Amino acid sequence: LMGSQSGYDYSFKILLIGDSGVGKSSLLVSFISSHIDGLSPTIGVDFKIKHLIVGGKRLKLTIWDTAGQEKFRTLTSSYFRNAQGIILVYDVTQRETFTNIVEVWVKELELYSTNQDCIKVLVGNKVDKESERVITEEEGIAFAQDYGCYFLECSAKTRANVEKCFAELAHKILQVPSLLEEGSALGKKNILKQKQEGHLGPASGCCSFAVLNLEYRR
Ligand code: GDP
Repeated sequence: LMGSQSGYDYSFKILLIGDSGVGKSSLLVSFISSHIDGLSPTIGVDFKIKHLIVGGKRLKLTIWDTAGQEKFRTLTSSYFRNAQGIILVYDVTQRETFTNIVEVWVKELELYSTNQDCIKVLVGNKVDKESERVITEEEGIAFAQDYGCYFLECSAKTRANVEKCFAELAHKILQVPSLLEEGSALGKKNILKQKQEGHLGPASGCCSFAVLNLEYRR
């Protein structure tokens, strides 16, 4: 809900997705906490809320983490519903996690997309492990260009680019009027219909970003 009475101008739902172990929970914790005393594998982070001012607007970001569900590939459409932003995360030291962005996560998004304008960002995490890197920055950039999303490399451990990742995403969302309207998300049927009618190509069908909502946990 929007409204200055609530202490913010806009409320955005953001979803983190990607293989288990790429650092989704760590990114969330790293962003939420201003300092981080060492990372540990985190299981069971559902969501966290952070208030941020971007472009003069007070934003409430509700950021959802898959909390391990991705291991079982049991994310559901309700997880993906009505997100304004989605962060696709891979680990720059594990090629399979990058391959799975294409083979698994982009497909999940397209299947469950409810919001055709949703902004997505591809994030290569763990850049602090430079000597173990197997995915070059150029590969990340190339994929992001093909897929039509933004790209950043970061480290949840050193916090390099972490804030930027979320702030940039929020900034991009603010530039899309349809994402600022309440109840503006296109229904899935509507998207399918538009795809069948040829109004939406695969590239613009991107937007399946997911938002986890509460029913996902039950
Ligand atoms: P998730 O399963 O995607 O949520 O991944 P986690 O956040 O649980 O992280 C998996 C493992 O990677 C944990 O041992 C983290 O401490 C580690 N990790 C996460 N982010 C980074 C990072 O940026 N650098 C390094 N070196 N390790 C990280």
